[in-house]
Amino acid sequence: MAQHSIQQSLNSLNRIVEQFSSNARPVSNAPDARELQQQLDVSLADQGAPYTVLEQMANQYLTLNPDVSSAKFNKLLYSGLNPPALLGDWVTSIGNATMHTYQVSPVATLMELELVRQWNKLVGFERGEGVMVSGGSQANLIAMLLARHKACPQAKTKGMQKTLVAYVSDQAHYSSLKAVNVLGIGSDNLIAVASDQQGRIIPTALEQAIEQSLILGHTPFYIGLTAGTTVLGGYDPVAPCAEISRRYDLWLHIDGAWGAPILFSKKHRHLLADSHLADSVAWDAHKLMNVPLTAAVILTRQPGLLKAACSGGGTDYLFHSDENAAFNLGERSIQCGRRADALKVWMSWKAMGNQGFADKIDYLQQQRADFVAQIQQLDDFELLHQPSFLNILFRYLPTTAISESAHKALSIAICAELKHRDVAYTDYASCKGKSAIRLILANADISAAQLQQLLLQCQQIARQLIATGDYNG
Ligand SMILES: *Cc1c(COP(=O)(O)O)cnc(C)c1O
Repeated sequence: MAQHSIQQSLNSLNRIVEQFSSNARPVSNAPDARELQQQLDVSLADQGAPYTVLEQMANQYLTLNPDVSSAKFNKLLYSGLNPPALLGDWVTSIGNATMHTYQVSPVATLMELELVRQWNKLVGFERGEGVMVSGGSQANLIAMLLARHKACPQAKTKGMQKTLVAYVSDQAHYSSLKAVNVLGIGSDNLIAVASDQQGRIIPTALEQAIEQSLILGHTPFYIGLTAGTTVLGGYDPVAPCAEISRRYDLWLHIDGAWGAPILFSKKHRHLLADSHLADSVAWDAHKLMNVPLTAAVILTRQPGLLKAACSGGGTDYLFHSDENAAFNLGERSIQCGRRADALKVWMSWKAMGNQGFADKIDYLQQQRADFVAQIQQLDDFELLHQPSFLNILFRYLPTTAISESAHKALSIAICAELKHRDVAYTDYASCKGKSAIRLILANADISAAQLQQLLLQCQQIARQLIATGDYNG
């Protein structure tokens, strides 16, 4: 039998990290899935293998994975490596605490409670509560569960007996679709309310949608706003929607998975200044706070609701009333075993301080403003919106007009070539019937020069593609 020890793991890790940090590599170089299947042997077998085999695979794993630590990784809503958080992540695995009870996660529990306190302070929930979750998707699910529990407390025991209706904007993240599925609301009862050109929900359209449901005899129960929409980075207007939610007695949730950290910045927090008017807020630490996946939280303005909606079972063997019961976070959660994500977030926050996050956001917002200004000076580029946050949707504008499908093909081809030239790993997206390149600024290692180069390369690539017609338009 192969012998394995912690020391061997650590030695391997040292060598792997050394290689990872010293080797220059492209931001993305994995072949297509079928090709990789041919190249890479991930098979498992009856006989165990020595550490050399594990180490080799770990190196390949990191080489073939997109380099999300690179400032060239602009494809998704996260980018960059966070050494203090990594330390926390590694220690989390050694300690292997599980968050249901204080007895098996004493320090992590106190850390999570402190994090929740700090997050609530930023949001403006004075008596707020919260629990960490696997991501924004679960946070949005829990928010809708809280709303359902408020509108229809008997649903917890008797199931759904009314047609409840939820409202989000047409720019909301697809996790609300998952939530209505899981919670038995049904996707027909999730209304996508119209948004404006900046991707912000239109309050009058929201009110009309609610009135329409009432005419049908349905029961409106939930408004899900977004702070930093996934595609356009739009911030829904909280105050007018809060007024509507009060008038109709609906739960008001803010999905801040991407954009809530703006609250760290004195300069830019006005985008989400009315967050305290919500009933709940979702916040991802694994996006703009740059903590390794996964780390997120659901916050509620009123204490006690999480337990009321989520608790059930486990009291006969797990949640002992004589063992620090008031500190058991498990009854606020829908999970049993839950990783101690608090430690890596705590380590990161302790190392950065609130000011560190504020500085990072201010820096990225400045880069965004400068990049947008550059695009506006060029005749052959077009912005799909006026960005207020860290998503930039822009596209090439050939001298002779091209069809919408050609625009899409061109954006895809530009992204592919940017990746091929190892300039950047960007993405494309469609919004309101138009396709464009979606550039995300989440990594504060990105420099003004790098962004300037990116735009120049886009221009050069696009001109070449147009000249040769080489993009399947
Ligand atoms: C990313 C994102 C989500 C989903 O969060 P996960 O952590 O990936 O589950 C939800 N809402 C918005 C606005 C997002 O950008």
